[in-house]
Amino acid sequence: MVRALIHIHGIVQGVGFRPFIHKQVRDSALTGTIKNTSSGVELELEGERETLERFVAELPDRAPVLAVIEHIEAEYFDELRHFTDFRILQSRTESVRNTLISPDIALCDDCRRELLSPSDRRYRYPFINCTNCGPRFTIIKDVPYDRPLTSMGKFPMCPDCDREYHDIEDRRYHAQPDCCPVCGPHVYYLDANGARQQGDAIALARAAIREGKIIAVKGLGGMHLACRCDDPSIVTRLRHNKQRDEKPFAIMCRDVEAARQLCFVSPAEEKILNGHRKPIVLLRKRREGLEHLSENGFVGVMLPYTPLHVLLFGDDFDALVMTSANLSDTPIMYQNDEATDKLRGIAEGYLLHNRDIQTRCDDSLCWVLDGKEYFARRSRGYVPFPVQMSEVQHKILACGAEQKASFCLSKPGYAFPSQHIGDLKNMETYEHYTTQIAHFERLFDIEPELLVCDRHPDYLSTAYAEERGLPLLRVQHHHAHIAACMADNGLNEKVIGLAWDGTGWGDDGSSWGGECLLADYRGFERVGSLRLIPLIGGDLAVHEIDRVAFALMHESDCDTSMIPNAAQYERQLSANLNCPRSSGMGRLFDGVAAMLGIKTKASYEGQGAVLLERAAQDTDRNYPLAFEGLRFDWRPMVRAMAADLARGVEIGEIAGAFHNTLCALALEQCRRARAHSGITTVCLSGGSFQNMRLMHALPPLLEREGFRVYHHRRVSTNDEGLSLGQLMIGEAYVSDEKQ
Ligand code: ZN
Ligand code: ZN
Ligand code: FE
Repeated sequence: MVRALIHIHGIVQGVGFRPFIHKQVRDSALTGTIKNTSSGVELELEGERETLERFVAELPDRAPVLAVIEHIEAEYFDELRHFTDFRILQSRTESVRNTLISPDIALCDDCRRELLSPSDRRYRYPFINCTNCGPRFTIIKDVPYDRPLTSMGKFPMCPDCDREYHDIEDRRYHAQPDCCPVCGPHVYYLDANGARQQGDAIALARAAIREGKIIAVKGLGGMHLACRCDDPSIVTRLRHNKQRDEKPFAIMCRDVEAARQLCFVSPAEEKILNGHRKPIVLLRKRREGLEHLSENGFVGVMLPYTPLHVLLFGDDFDALVMTSANLSDTPIMYQNDEATDKLRGIAEGYLLHNRDIQTRCDDSLCWVLDGKEYFARRSRGYVPFPVQMSEVQHKILACGAEQKASFCLSKPGYAFPSQHIGDLKNMETYEHYTTQIAHFERLFDIEPELLVCDRHPDYLSTAYAEERGLPLLRVQHHHAHIAACMADNGLNEKVIGLAWDGTGWGDDGSSWGGECLLADYRGFERVGSLRLIPLIGGDLAVHEIDRVAFALMHESDCDTSMIPNAAQYERQLSANLNCPRSSGMGRLFDGVAAMLGIKTKASYEGQGAVLLERAAQDTDRNYPLAFEGLRFDWRPMVRAMAADLARGVEIGEIAGAFHNTLCALALEQCRRARAHSGITTVCLSGGSFQNMRLMHALPPLLEREGFRVYHHRRVSTNDEGLSLGQLMIGEAYVSDEKQ
């Protein structure tokens, strides 16, 4: 007999790990104890050495589906404690907090079965959960992950739940949020005036939705507004109430079959829709008649992920609009009082409950690309899961950008990208940002020794970083994009980076965004760009995109007389009055969208680009590629497009040829970069690569020419993913400093 002291590191708390171990130990005839520590799980076991060693060796393969074992340390001692059974000990807080925290997990099949089975004591109970499912990140106040330090702390378990919690045979054994109708939280329904209504809250909400009302529904990480999606007049009212004219709404479908009625669903998409994370998946529309939900070619679809959602659907609906409850770019609402206060006049009823959300977490949003999530927003279900990085050796805080803000914290071995924060342009979002930084620093015990921020002097994230008063590194925006894509793919070498986005602070005073860089974590060289586009009226041109169309056409000597206000734009441009220059690819998309008459005023960022993508048809045609030094000269292309327009060529064909031209441009820039450097690895990053036409056409084109092409896989390709790149550049900087 020997005694083994085993430390297991990784995602091993809140995922049913201790009960799993309990069963394994019982089956192996071992004795001892297990406890959660702040650095993972600690096991002390006694038995034959051979049995113990086999036990340790087999652990990684048998672990629960949600557990991620990073590594196991086992030490063996001859001196015994003479355990007579196996026990789970109380957690104790240690000074070193190394434990990873599980994301929130969608309702599992076992719980769904019980939820819908009349003989079960949790029949129709909207907070049913188990060791394999339920809230995690959004209810945690602090670590270690134990009930008293979560929102469930105020709900003492009833004798039945307590029995399950302590019964090794039970699938709720040591499930921290375990509860039932007797001891757990409850739902209630309020009318439009916030008055509590008697009766079955879920039935009331369902009836109200059926009647055409817009109902606020409390979810895992925040409130949704839910309504029928089969009646455009209701959706129009929701748009009007929310003051959201054109931005797409996500929907929740009862199941994959219901989603298939509206959209194309590939096997890979089905797997992600149905998985235990349940993000919103952007699916290609199958039929017309969904314009009231989304004006582009995709609809964001998710499946019910909480028991409350399942009950709300009942047998009544196939699909519901399920959009975040927030007001004009403020963060998603998550508190009951806040919802009834601020949603007055928007929501026409409230389905709420008394389990508090500790941490806001929006629904994640992704396409499925090469069988995997390709994120526009990485949030619920994924956060706070870290990106593992052996290169990372220091504690660093990367502060992100401004639109689609995020931050990323590191400690040796890990980078922790934050959840979706939103656009850092109002007080509420800024507060959410700073609060979450503090929360993450505490949860993961990180006191950063270096901060990294964007070089843009006016970003609120830059201001935040400056205020912290710690050593600060300022990183160029597109360099950070490429570094993020490298890190996302585990690359640590010099690469060709195509950083295509709307806008970023350039090192030469202009705004960049159509850049080809040779980059690694230590620096970059700009080897390609776009001819600068004058933005007449500065920021105005981001929304009034016909200003960009005018600039493109005017500079290309095209006839601009059909553009309203052309004379005014011309005066402003020739006087060079508030006409900052930009090489942003997003701006080129905007200008072309407006030039083709697809959209002349954008009501949200990127609208021109998504509509241009939707309009594009397959064609073999290309427009001329011209260069002035390292810059793509778009003027011959614009002239050819104007000539096509004048000849009456279909808009879809022009849009298709424009996409082809950008692919040809990317290829030509990569060839030049390779000729200059010998490098063949290409990283794609930036918001413009949210264009699926580019993402399907460009990588194969480059690969046929001998390039290895990488895109984002674990963090978003837009500015939200950029903090990871800032962090890696910071890491390289600190490592060099210390040598
Ligand atoms: Zn479950
Ligand atoms: Zn109970
Ligand atoms: Fe960007």
